[in-house]
Amino acid sequence: MFERIRNKTVVITGASSGFGNSIARIFVKYGANVVITARRLDRLEELKAELLDKHPEAKIHPLKLDVTDKAAVVEAFSKLPEWASEPDVLINNAGVALGFDPVSDLVEENITKMFDTNVKGVVFVTQQVLPSMKKRNEGVIINIGSLLGIHSVGNLSIYSATKHALRAITDSLRIETNSTKIRVVEVDPGMAETEFNLVRTGHDEELSKNMYNGVDLMTPEDVAEVTLFAASRHPRCVISQVSIAPQAQA
Ligand code: NDP
Repeated sequence: MFERIRNKTVVITGASSGFGNSIARIFVKYGANVVITARRLDRLEELKAELLDKHPEAKIHPLKLDVTDKAAVVEAFSKLPEWASEPDVLINNAGVALGFDPVSDLVEENITKMFDTNVKGVVFVTQQVLPSMKKRNEGVIINIGSLLGIHSVGNLSIYSATKHALRAITDSLRIETNSTKIRVVEVDPGMAETEFNLVRTGHDEELSKNMYNGVDLMTPEDVAEVTLFAASRHPRCVISQVSIAPQAQA
């Protein structure tokens, strides 16, 4: 079922933890070669060592990348190793939620960081792979959105706004490329156990745990499986959008 992903080159942003880490693991398990990117290079090197231990044949390139820094993104993609220079699949997964504030208390710095990462960062990275995908007339771009990009909840207005914006960009890109064989997918997860809440609460472990109180959370593997499924369909079909959530949030 996942055979089509074998020997493909897959670029994953935000691979140092959570969904991105699990996505890298499952793609390598099914024979893909991966460029794993994030700001924490030490985590990526650890992941590479673990993956090579199990899959010595895999090609794995850890790449330190801050998706908000356009010049750095351009430079990093211009220096990819030869085997990775024309990615078959891009997974825009890096994202942050900062704070849990009503609109009245929003902090400008957090607003900027969320839009820079969740919206501008996706555009900057996507722009690096589109020319070669267009030239080869093939490729898959998967954006990790959120259920909060479909509806909003209180105290997460800006995060939700960034994911609504991402959804709009994903839809536009799909239309812009629908005369080609480039497929554009949005995966919208609900609540899952990752470092996401720790980052959101400024690393307050107690608060972070309480936010998901009583919910049987998804694991990062649940989201990784859906992402692999979407990436490995026959090129004649595209899974435009898929939501996946814990039963309590469905
Ligand atoms: P994590 O916090 O575990 O992972 C976020 C990843 O994004 C990290 O690898 C982090 O790496 C990377 N990242 C953050 N900022 C940047 C940046 N400026 N440049 C490059 N990489 C960056 O959270 P999740 O795995 O849960 O989140 C992954 C995606 O899933 C996000 O887009 C999130 O919005 C979305 N999501 C998460 C849900 C959840 O409940 N967990 C629900 C719905 C959607 P580093 O810090 O090393 O740069």
